[in-house]
Amino acid sequence: MISPDQPARCIACGHPLEPAARFCSQCGRRQGQLDVWILRPLWILVLSFTVLGPFALPLVWVSRGTNRTGKIVVSAVIILYTVFVFYVGYLFLAWYFRYLERVTHLHVGGYF
Ligand SMILES: [Zn+2]
Repeated sequence: MISPDQPARCIACGHPLEPAARFCSQCGRRQGQLDVWILRPLWILVLSFTVLGPFALPLVWVSRGTNRTGKIVVSAVIILYTVFVFYVGYLFLAWYFRYLERVTHLHVGGYF
């Protein structure tokens, strides 16, 4: 966090800014709180595991909170999680259709 006795600085290049500046006069980067919290790796993981799934991957790659290795690790975790969720979903559907078949004697699960 920015301490009060220091001038505000650009979140991208570190150029000193007016406290109310919304864009960096040096590099043009937009300054803002939303920008900061949504790009934190932990938040990206939380969003990925709850609502975004693999759609959180672009956030990982624009995030400034991690280096390249960190981004690769976070991406791998998200991809593995996605594959796991789809696999569990597939197993559940396969089981469910087999169960329906047994109960109803219909061949709704022929594709599984
Ligand atoms: Zn800047």
